Amino acid sequence: MEYPDRFQVIVIGGGHAGTEAALASARSGARTLLLTHNIETLGQMSCNPAIGGIGKSHLVKEIDALGGAMAKATDLAGIQFRVLNSRKGPAVRATRAQADRIRYKAAIRGMLENQPNLTLFQQGVDDLVVENDTVVGVTTQTGIRFMADTVVLCTGTFLGGVIHIGLDHHAGGRAGDPPANALAQRLRALPFRVDRLKTGTPPRIDAKSVDFSRLERQPGDTPLPVMSYLGSREQHPRQVDCHIAHTNERTHEIIFANLDRSPMYSGVIEGVGPRYCPSIEDKVHRFADKTSHQVFVEPEGLDTHELYPNGISTSLPFDVQLQVVRSIEGLENAHITRPGYAIEYDFFDPRDLKHSLETKFIHNLFFAGQINGTTGYEEAGAQGLLAGINAARRAQGESLWWPRRDEAYLGVLVDDLITMGTQEPYRMFTSRAEYRLLLREDNADLRLTATGRELGLVDDHRWSAFETKRDKIEKESARLRATWIQPKTEAGQRVAEKLGQPLAREYSLMDLLRRPELGYADVASLKGEAVGDEPVAEQVEIEAKYEGYIARQQDEIDRLRRHEATPLPESLDYARVEGLSNEIRQKLEQARPQTLGQAGRISGVTPAAVSILLIHLKKRR
Ligand code: FAD
Repeated sequence: MEYPDRFQVIVIGGGHAGTEAALASARSGARTLLLTHNIETLGQMSCNPAIGGIGKSHLVKEIDALGGAMAKATDLAGIQFRVLNSRKGPAVRATRAQADRIRYKAAIRGMLENQPNLTLFQQGVDDLVVENDTVVGVTTQTGIRFMADTVVLCTGTFLGGVIHIGLDHHAGGRAGDPPANALAQRLRALPFRVDRLKTGTPPRIDAKSVDFSRLERQPGDTPLPVMSYLGSREQHPRQVDCHIAHTNERTHEIIFANLDRSPMYSGVIEGVGPRYCPSIEDKVHRFADKTSHQVFVEPEGLDTHELYPNGISTSLPFDVQLQVVRSIEGLENAHITRPGYAIEYDFFDPRDLKHSLETKFIHNLFFAGQINGTTGYEEAGAQGLLAGINAARRAQGESLWWPRRDEAYLGVLVDDLITMGTQEPYRMFTSRAEYRLLLREDNADLRLTATGRELGLVDDHRWSAFETKRDKIEKESARLRATWIQPKTEAGQRVAEKLGQPLAREYSLMDLLRRPELGYADVASLKGEAVGDEPVAEQVEIEAKYEGYIARQQDEIDRLRRHEATPLPESLDYARVEGLSNEIRQKLEQARPQTLGQAGRISGVTPAAVSILLIHLKKRR
């Protein structure tokens, strides 16, 4: 049958990409349908119960700045919060939260159910309806046809999913869920490049069988961090500790002795696994000289005894998993509640996508999440948001939007994927961004919320909170610039004490804040009143301390943008351009771009390489 109501956007898959896509599309005002296998698994965390971390929290905060769900759900579900790299510079600081799996899912479902313009329907999708290279609808397992202007595919690890435990394997989308095989076959018949990747998860353990006195305690941070720009500490549920355990030589012996029973080492799995989240058998094999690896023992939630031993993801047979777990100090009597496993699945080469995440071959069809070769909830959520925005805009006849690399990690993520593709599950790192100092997790709202408002994604409540914060930052910075401290006054003496030397002349509070020895709390109330608002104070301090570096990065961006149309001479001999890698040189020689802008858009030609070309052109003149 054909469903009587027509939609503007259909999103397939209720994981992290699909839920952000559906919410963003509906927030943009498009009539949206979210079709998923099972409404009970909306927003399910397939693997570790944690959100954020290095590089990833930047994406979460960007999703939040554009009105998305992930950070808000994390504040409602987070049972332990920490700021990683807190002693390093602000560019690499990252908030990470341990999330209660059930509370997280409930928070996401609540937002979906209460979102105007959004309809949910539980059923697997088997087919796409394509006419003249344009998608016009989808067909479900029971033959219901839903028609729409655009379709967003967010099917995660489900396409052609095969689960491996030791040498046994069976079809599955993740443990307990069916794969999406009919849809996988349909997609393989379209002109997209397709390949296999794999990822894995550790066995889960019953906390009642663990001796915590033998593990190292790892408490959360005080004061408690918050994930969403609109979030507050009061929203967090009860906070709990994590623990740290260690593998040992005995653990590694067990793994070595059983490698022939590992599907990866016996050649049963062909897909490439995540380099930065390797299985324990990979770690032991790759770093054979290491006698121990850390295992973070993380609670799965407040209402369960299940633990997630982060660091021992494995696809070894169950009997070996049990020996491995029980060889670890504190886990000698551990009971495994669910075996670990690996999953292999189809992903589509993201070089077949445009920046908007629309596919190049089928109009109005968008891909987002693990289907594009990424790994991680945050990477999936960020792509989902972007694809949802653009699917809605296309349906509404609006121009498509995407952020540049210098505006957002989301810009870096999409640009990396569509220009370079990926041979292994792609995860975000701060090192992937050229302009790290501009793209901090603390300023994602200042970078993106105004754009989000223009795109219709940011509601009045968020907008008013944002405007208040932005005004306070401007006012406080202006106050610090205009307030002067004289050496011989009481305030001057107080600063001198902190600095360990007298002030040589009059300084503004802003001048003082730039000094490495002084923080906002030291200078702000020397004269006048400090703002009581932590995020405002943090922003004022970071902008002051890193002003020079930030201005330099901004100059570089402006310079590159100005030179977008600069012609590259036809006679240019790339072999003579110093500093280019051989790979980039070859690509430029093959493509022979006409302008610097075109050069920068060639797959694999980095902004650094464009800078080198620019310098070379200047030298030639
Ligand atoms: P998913 O979260 O997989 O969601 C896909 C959704 O689509 C599901 O709701 C599914 O039911 C639905 N769906 C699929 N096909 C259809 C269809 N035809 N019709 C209707 N609905 C459909 N990430 C890490 O960062 N680190 C890790 O170590 C890690 N390990 C993992 C281990 C395992 C075993 C698994 C399964 C995943 C792991 N991940 C890991 C990945 C992480 O779970 C994903 O990156 C993230 O969930 C991807 O989000 P997504 O929205 O793209 O897909």
